[in-house]
Amino acid sequence: MAGAKVGEEMHELIADLYPICRSITGDGLRETLRRIGTHVPLEVHEIPSGTKVFDWAVPPEWNIRDAYVKNGLGERIIDFAASNLHVVGYSAPIRRRMPLAELKENLTTIPEHPDWIPYRTLYYREAWGFCLSHNTLLALEDGEYEVCIDSTLEDGNLSYGEYYLPGERDDEVLISAHVCHPSLANDNLSGIAMATFLARALTELPRRLSYRFLFVPGTIGAIAWLSENRSVVSRVKHGLVLTGVGDAGSPTYKRSRRGNAAIDRAVEHVLRHSGRDYQVIDFSPYGYDERQYCSPGFDLPVGCFMRTPWGRYPEYHTSADDLDFVRPEALADSLETVLAALSVVENDAAYVNLNPYCEPQLGRRGLYRAAGGRKDESVWELALLWVLNLSDSRHSLLDIAERSGLEFDAVRAAADTLLDHELLEEASG
Ligand code: ZN
Repeated sequence: MAGAKVGEEMHELIADLYPICRSITGDGLRETLRRIGTHVPLEVHEIPSGTKVFDWAVPPEWNIRDAYVKNGLGERIIDFAASNLHVVGYSAPIRRRMPLAELKENLTTIPEHPDWIPYRTLYYREAWGFCLSHNTLLALEDGEYEVCIDSTLEDGNLSYGEYYLPGERDDEVLISAHVCHPSLANDNLSGIAMATFLARALTELPRRLSYRFLFVPGTIGAIAWLSENRSVVSRVKHGLVLTGVGDAGSPTYKRSRRGNAAIDRAVEHVLRHSGRDYQVIDFSPYGYDERQYCSPGFDLPVGCFMRTPWGRYPEYHTSADDLDFVRPEALADSLETVLAALSVVENDAAYVNLNPYCEPQLGRRGLYRAAGGRKDESVWELALLWVLNLSDSRHSLLDIAERSGLEFDAVRAAADTLLDHELLEEASG
């Protein structure tokens, strides 16, 4: 897939999903999974309300048809049809008249960005609220208002999507994106688009590892998946939560709780050799669903790949996180970076030098000539020497790349050549 084109395609998927009113349960979430399913064969699971999942329970299902606040003239001054961010997520139904003072107790704005609508939710407690631009709030006049939220909170299901892509081995890479935010492009939809296109790209590539893609509502969805899949969890050898991968900022990688898992080292390696700005931050028990995957009972090697971290850009959780805020070139760059990191974990292995007593004579075997004409001849020679020297079954190719400062791909290519010349064999176990 060419970079520019795939970025455009990811952006198109984001635009397709953008208008849907999603939440942690409900028909908007189901419709989102259905549309993702037109790109990758998604299996959709439904977990009934009330199901106990560790210390949590699946909440009642929330659905909403309409919501508004009308002024004395009967005009909709806040209208769900204009933006689904206007209704606080999981708002209980309400239909009554009230004075401005009472209405205001249930309104949220962002005074510093008076044109933007904030995004708020009220999970796990029954209440209601509206979000609106601060300018709209300032224009509200005293009087009586008609408030309507035509929503339901009833027994139903929590939905999540799963796509399992088998490889040669049962060892798995877990890729997780949250799918519970309404019309927000970077937070939520960019991660969904990236997981979808990552799945499509990996389908076309040879795979030693198996891949499991999860499209889950934040927190409760990840908890529900972990609760329902305890037997699978031990197969997860690497994992990434994908979120906020489309803004113009540089990549950020948040390490797994372990801090030095292969996926942590692979992503850092790729970023270090990319020649551009990036940042790596340590694990903290705050953020996205890595909080659940890295809870101490599981301690899975799951990091989080994003661009500008959550809460570090003013558009975060506001109507300004829109289709213009996510950029095709940033989406494509995020996809390419993660594909490169996954290629490292796919191709990493430890070998044994079959000629460990002094260096083998490389010239006689034509190994120096193999690089003839290459500008990076000295890199090639160094890669051969490093692989021969450190291939004692204890050092993997990624270890060798890190210690030598060489790029993983150069080390991998050197190992392949040495294997062809029967100077290496794969370490057992
Ligand atoms: Zn969010």
